[in-house]
Amino acid sequence: MDHFEIRNGEMFAENVPLATIAAEVGTPVYVYSHSTLQRHAQVFRDALSALPRKHLAFAVKSNPNLSVLSVLRDEGYGADVVSEGEMKRALAAGIPASDIVFSGVGKSRRELAAALDAGIGQFNIESEEEGVELAEIARDKGGHAVATLRVNPDVDAGTHAKISTGKAENKFGVAYHDAAEIYARLSACEGLNLRGLAVHIGSQISDLAPSRAAFEKMGELMRQLRSAGHSVTHMDLGGGLGVPYRLGETLPGPDDYGAMVAEVTRDWDATIMFEPGRVITGNSGVLITEVIRVKPGVSAPFVVVDAAMNDLARPSLYDAWHDFLAVRPRGEMMEAHIVGPICESSDTFAKNRTIDVVEAGDLAVFRTAGAYGATMANTYNSRALVPEVMVKGDKWAVVADRIEPETIFAAERLPDWLS
Ligand SMILES: *Cc1c(COP(=O)(O)O)cnc(C)c1O
Repeated sequence: MDHFEIRNGEMFAENVPLATIAAEVGTPVYVYSHSTLQRHAQVFRDALSALPRKHLAFAVKSNPNLSVLSVLRDEGYGADVVSEGEMKRALAAGIPASDIVFSGVGKSRRELAAALDAGIGQFNIESEEEGVELAEIARDKGGHAVATLRVNPDVDAGTHAKISTGKAENKFGVAYHDAAEIYARLSACEGLNLRGLAVHIGSQISDLAPSRAAFEKMGELMRQLRSAGHSVTHMDLGGGLGVPYRLGETLPGPDDYGAMVAEVTRDWDATIMFEPGRVITGNSGVLITEVIRVKPGVSAPFVVVDAAMNDLARPSLYDAWHDFLAVRPRGEMMEAHIVGPICESSDTFAKNRTIDVVEAGDLAVFRTAGAYGATMANTYNSRALVPEVMVKGDKWAVVADRIEPETIFAAERLPDWLS
């Protein structure tokens, strides 16, 4: 459920007409619903209420906007970060360092040191080499790093290849069959407090069977480690739960996921950790765009909109589907291709799609744009960096400015040997 609905013939975000935001901020613009974010955070947490000990860390990479982070902080979420920049954002949003988990396959020495200085709660290390390096840095600082070992369970998440992370050939984690030995060696490292295992098999997961299989394998490994005398108190199950991108589509939801996790982990006697991203933010945001013009095409007309692949990259990266809805629907449908202005054929949001009839000057939205939307935006074709707005009830505010090309090229320098 979300709070983007048609009322009296036009789409609102909570109690604010999207047309008002478009008129004042311009388009394209992302709009987030505060109530939807809050609700998703609560629904996910409530779905895990059967677990005696848990920790929730919001995956910052899905939407790192400071206002979004502060909503999640108020809901009691920590943060899962994958770079020093994300760590700085989480800290700036007031998320306690001790509730931050640092994930990622390429944490640099500098990032490891900065995270130790900040007092990060847990490092999810992805190789023996990283663990040794982290232990060394922590020892030099006269302390120790709290960590889990990320394991690659060799399970196919059944999602798009570019967002699958848990197969043996993927770069993430250590190989399942090597994990016990690596855990044993790293446990002996002074400077490292290795307290558990981590797993994350992919994103936009629409079938719970692969997750269950991965978690069961992790449970096996946990028991094996314990019987070899190692301490395993924390089990991080990652994120990845999918969301419906098409109106009417049904996917396993947080309740199904929670029930599965409760069953698999019932005798684990560990703190179970989660890193949800998309399931919290995905349907909490839309991207408003204006139709520039409609031009004839061979099989259907092209609806050329002012948003492009630089603003919302998912269709060009993953062939992702985003529903396209008119802000003031006329009640008639047309078949069209939806494209942006960028000079690449991959700047295509949809082909031969049945959509609301739109004309030049009409406003429309791409739904389910709250996750991996604004955060992946760039300025290709010297377009502005897209702004973000948050709505709460009848209040709204710009929570990230549009960054104009002049601001971007102000950081460029002409060397004195160029006239
Ligand atoms: C991306 C990522 C997540 C979040 O994934 P979602 O599909 O957005 O829930 C969680 N953990 C790790 C390690 C990730 O890389």
